[in-house]
Amino acid sequence: MGDLEDQHKIFLQAFMWKKICNSEEVGDLFKKCHIITNVEISDLPLFVMKINNALKPLNMAIHKGTDELTGESYYILINSNNNNISRLAPEYKVQELEVFKSITSSIVKSDDGKISSTDALNLEIEAKISKKEVNDMLQMFKKDGWLCEKEGYLFFSTRAIAELQYFFRENYADFISSCQLCKNIVFQGSSCNNCEKKLHNHCKESYFTRSQVCPACNGKF
Ligand SMILES: [Zn+2]
Ligand SMILES: [Zn+2]
Repeated sequence: MGDLEDQHKIFLQAFMWKKICNSEEVGDLFKKCHIITNVEISDLPLFVMKINNALKPLNMAIHKGTDELTGESYYILINSNNNNISRLAPEYKVQELEVFKSITSSIVKSDDGKISSTDALNLEIEAKISKKEVNDMLQMFKKDGWLCEKEGYLFFSTRAIAELQYFFRENYADFISSCQLCKNIVFQGSSCNNCEKKLHNHCKESYFTRSQVCPACNGKF
């Protein structure tokens, strides 16, 4: 942390507290940190890079992520040494982690990056726990910002995708798709009719204004 100046420290403290900020919030925070410390505004990517260099020994980093549904960009403070899922949420009990892993695995293995809430309640879980307990845990995972629920389906939050990306790539390599345009993991996107490769919807929209063919196979998407 030695190299960080006050404006970096204030920025980082805000992230430790909020964990995730959209671009507008980051822009405001960035400006505020410079005003408070009476320093001239620099370049945001360089500013974040400096913080990330200082965070490296702690295995933490501020990453940029995009909401798969809205295309909105976010900055997220993540634990970058996270091939072990229990390290990510050390506050969870053994049973809670088991349920979390089982839900995670079934979302990753689904074709469209989501599972119905009913299926989630009926997942095979080794430990003997009631549906009510599983449901309480689901509510907790949502409240803690790991999962989202919409129209009866559960899927990963933007923060969870950013935070769990290394875990997914290491443990579910055969089930994970990378967007053919931005190369980041994609869960809920569109698949090519021809080669079945996936694209984020926001990546697809900006790409297809320029081209009409699939970036992977050159066929009709
Ligand atoms: Zn993409
Ligand atoms: Zn294709």
